[in-house]
Amino acid sequence: MGEGKRPSLTAAVRGGEPASYAHDALTAPIVQTATYTFANTAELVEYMEGRKEREEYGRYGNPTVRLLEDRVAALEGVEDAVAFSSGMAAITSAILALTKAGEHVILFSDCYRRTRQFVTRFLAQFGVEHTLVPPADIAALRDALRPNTRLVISEAPTNPYLTVVDLSAISEVCRPRRVKTLIDSTFATPVNLNPAEHGIDLIVHSATKYLSGHNDVLAGVVAGNRALVSLVRDVRHLMGAMCDPHAAFLVHRGLKTLALRVAQQNASTQAIAEALEAHRRVKRVWYPGLASHPSHATATRQMRGFGGVVSFEVDGDLAVTSRFIDALKVPRIAPSLGGVESLVEQPALMSYFELSTEQREAVGIRDNLVRYAVGIECTDELIEDLIQALDALDR
Ligand code: PLP
Repeated sequence: MGEGKRPSLTAAVRGGEPASYAHDALTAPIVQTATYTFANTAELVEYMEGRKEREEYGRYGNPTVRLLEDRVAALEGVEDAVAFSSGMAAITSAILALTKAGEHVILFSDCYRRTRQFVTRFLAQFGVEHTLVPPADIAALRDALRPNTRLVISEAPTNPYLTVVDLSAISEVCRPRRVKTLIDSTFATPVNLNPAEHGIDLIVHSATKYLSGHNDVLAGVVAGNRALVSLVRDVRHLMGAMCDPHAAFLVHRGLKTLALRVAQQNASTQAIAEALEAHRRVKRVWYPGLASHPSHATATRQMRGFGGVVSFEVDGDLAVTSRFIDALKVPRIAPSLGGVESLVEQPALMSYFELSTEQREAVGIRDNLVRYAVGIECTDELIEDLIQALDALDR
């Protein structure tokens, strides 16, 4: 555990709130403007000389977006945050801000597929080298370090096997060598984990998921110390992936119920994982809250809750697994996670569709794998539904 006071979850409801909003509104107004006016040239000069803080242009800042940034910074217990139009915009901007040609990036191999693609294909085109290291393998991380290593990227927990890497171990390896660390904490949320407490430099969220929580908006946030976040903000100014004010409003409306939603999702997913593990038509379950999960000890030490995603293998092949998914009545079939609606997917038919069964197995994805992102529906109904769909496989 790192030092410092644990951030208060009240920040999800009140963080960054001014003494009053325009018109004494209780809730934050959506400031829907592309630019901002100056009263006269004297005010412009005052602003340009840095003597007055205010907004200038919509791509550089917006009060509704700023409130979201302050709220996420408070929830992560860090100095600052910067919001983007999507989680991918947040991740790619953070990586671009911290790397240049001739430098080297280390990426844990179970990072989100698109993050991996960005580092291994896109960054490579611009002369940034990389090494992929196996999930949660700190010894491999240590071996992969080079004199030109600038950044280490991981997630915790990861998709779809919910591996939880030891974040303090990552920072202990990286800090003395001045290597920066970036954790995509989307699956954990600030309710279950604060990576900064473990010495991590930059924290990324796809706010599309738990932070907004209603499957109705795309957004992303990068949080960390002021100097690093300022570098990332500069990239946003250049690339233009600014968070839209209406999207920011939806995220901070969602944030107000984050603690309640995640507590429910933690409890429901634990109960579901246990019920799945006990069912004869389930071959294996991955959930860090289960003693059988390889990351259980690390997750128990590091996290305050184990999250809302569970993965499992059905006792059957691709077609049997599809039959099981089609028999489910509550969750909808869709990518994404973290919202109030439960979502289910068969990775073999989604992210890994273009691969053969053998190719999928080579990358560790079996045809009978199911990823279930638990929403906030009644736990008993979710379990009953899963059991009826599994039992139906015997008929
Ligand atoms: N990080 C993780 C862990 C994700 O699962 C995703 C999307 O699924 C992203 C980042 C990308 O976020 P977005 O879809 O908001 O760009």
